Amino acid sequence: CGIIGIVGLRPVAGRLMDALRRLEYRGYDSAGIALIQDGRIARRRASGKLDQLDALLARDPLDGLIGIGHTRWATHGEPSTANAHPHIGRHVAVVHNGIIENFKALREELIAAGHQFTSETDTEVIAHLLSDHLAAGIEPRLAVKQTLDRLEGAFALAILIDGKDRLMYGARRGSPLVVGLADGECFLGSDAIALAGLCNRICYLEEGDWAELHGDHFALFDAAGDPVERPLVHSSVSG
Ligand code: GLU
Repeated sequence: CGIIGIVGLRPVAGRLMDALRRLEYRGYDSAGIALIQDGRIARRRASGKLDQLDALLARDPLDGLIGIGHTRWATHGEPSTANAHPHIGRHVAVVHNGIIENFKALREELIAAGHQFTSETDTEVIAHLLSDHLAAGIEPRLAVKQTLDRLEGAFALAILIDGKDRLMYGARRGSPLVVGLADGECFLGSDAIALAGLCNRICYLEEGDWAELHGDHFALFDAAGDPVERPLVHSSVSG
């Protein structure tokens, strides 16, 4: 339902939680964040309100300079901690808004290939598909493209890759996604409100676009995988 991503120079856990608070207005049943901590993906998820996730983070904090966060409004799989995002494969963490229409076929294919699923969501197939491509030695940009090409339905995505603390991917098809830039940091948000107070220069992805964020700059591609430019505009939403 709500997405935030930060490729930062300063710690991101607190800022991810602040952004999820700004996204509460959309409604949600659970929430979670994933960061790269000591070179590895680490996540915390909780069903219910953000206070539950805050309490979990107080007991078991996360520290890192890159991370993604999500508030979920369940469409596939009951509201629960196991179904809360981010979902992980062996090498990636993914948050997703929308619905992957062909998830059943993809899930069967991935299970046959040896993947073990830990949720009932449509989203989890994305993490396993991308993990498979990365495990095969495909470089991240192409692996993301090939993963997006397999998906049917509507999505906005934010993706973290193990060991990469200055790299994040975002994608938009059917659900909005915004990229932001400020002071050596890059941001992803499901809307401009998510990014309020984080950056004031934002770029609205167009249908089919996907983004590669490096922190001090980002690159955009269209559905065919060709580089595209979209206008960077001043956000009218203030923090
Ligand atoms: N379809 C996904 C799920 O049920 C994402 C729902 C959402 O947009 O929050 O987990």
